[in-house]
Amino acid sequence: MSKKKIQAIRGMNDILPAQTPIWQHIEHTLHQVLESYGYQEIRMPILEATELFSRSIGEVTDIVEKEMFSFVDRNSDNLTLRPEGTASCVRAGIQNGLFYNQIQRLWYIGPMFRHERPQKGRYRQFNQLGVEAYGLTGADIDAEIILMTARFWQKLGLDNLELQINSLGSAEARAVYRNKLVDYFLANESQLDEDSKRRLNTNPLRILDSKNPQMQNLIQSAPQLLDHLDKESQTHFQQLKNILDQTGINYRINPQLVRGLDYYNRTVFEWVTQELGAQGTICAGGRYDTLVEQIGGRSTPAVGFAMGLERLVLLLESKLQLSDINPHIYMIMVGNETVQQQGFALAESLRTALPELRLITNCGGGSFKAQFKRADKSAAKFALILGEDELHKQQIAIKNLRKKSEQTLLSISELADNLKQLIKE
Ligand code: ATP
Ligand code: MG
Repeated sequence: MSKKKIQAIRGMNDILPAQTPIWQHIEHTLHQVLESYGYQEIRMPILEATELFSRSIGEVTDIVEKEMFSFVDRNSDNLTLRPEGTASCVRAGIQNGLFYNQIQRLWYIGPMFRHERPQKGRYRQFNQLGVEAYGLTGADIDAEIILMTARFWQKLGLDNLELQINSLGSAEARAVYRNKLVDYFLANESQLDEDSKRRLNTNPLRILDSKNPQMQNLIQSAPQLLDHLDKESQTHFQQLKNILDQTGINYRINPQLVRGLDYYNRTVFEWVTQELGAQGTICAGGRYDTLVEQIGGRSTPAVGFAMGLERLVLLLESKLQLSDINPHIYMIMVGNETVQQQGFALAESLRTALPELRLITNCGGGSFKAQFKRADKSAAKFALILGEDELHKQQIAIKNLRKKSEQTLLSISELADNLKQLIKE
């Protein structure tokens, strides 16, 4: 009887050993930059009450309408695998008293889940870095997080990303604008697609976020939110632009940028690449001053962004030359059990003496020839060869596997010192 092969869930991928070095490099670089700006890590659960997301992200958004992995558990609770991190972060901050009268600069990294059509740069499980700053109302903190993202690209060696910014203004200004927009779309109703017709009554601003190419002309000619901003939001936006100008960050004002989530106000921004087709947004965020209150906390201003790590990996994969992570040494042990025992003891003492050493010990026995083959395949630079004869004389043979040179003998007592030099070369 043949058994059906069990496969990973569609849109959820394994990240294999050949790919993990680039992930580690990206994560390491992000950590360093975050630390240099004084941001602290927070870790939240992956599973949350479904209500958290429907209440925060917005009922009429792609995420809540059709992308959530939701289910009822054994206690009949409605649960959802988090589709994004901001709602969880806000929930955690309220629950643990992080917000009231405090300034918090937080970040988190981890998997998010959305039931979308999988394609390059779009998956059902994907990873985000999320950054959130709480307790500050000014444009200075908006500028800070944008400057920090710019530094990510600089450290990662990416110079082709475009920064787009816009302001959504205050809720009141948006309500006035909303009416104008509805009038405009009603006057052109025949050109609206099905999604947009539905949104006209529920959330007309989201029509501006439509990816439908046939809608783009209509959207381009629509009245612009930027022309309807309240005075404070105008000043806020100007201050943000001033800091970006002063710090030499190039940007493009994109009046159509409204973001897919409902909770934003004032500043919104995206970093976009031309290299990944429709999946061009690498990083997106903005200000969300009403969300904390909406989820049940005391009113707390906030600004943040999320970055798609798979898209970063796609961008960097072809560009990055990672430094060598191959093992330095593969240790071959042939002979009786004593040889193996002494070999293990020696390997441990080398790892203690040389913390940077990458050493693989042969496991699973095998003839000299078989072990030598494994050493070669491991991509190690050197093979250390321990046999009964060598052990007897307290010596070990070393062979450079990448150069056609003879093997030589080293004294075990001086081995660590010798290797210290060799692994530097
Ligand atoms: P898009 O317009 O591409 O669907 P979004 O507006 O839904 O993006 P956000 O919710 O703002 O995206 O998420 C922030 C970032 O997370 C995106 O800019 C993108 O880099 C990444 N991202 C979002 N959804 C996915 C996905 N399904 N697969 C991979 N990365 C994703
Ligand atoms: Mg989306």
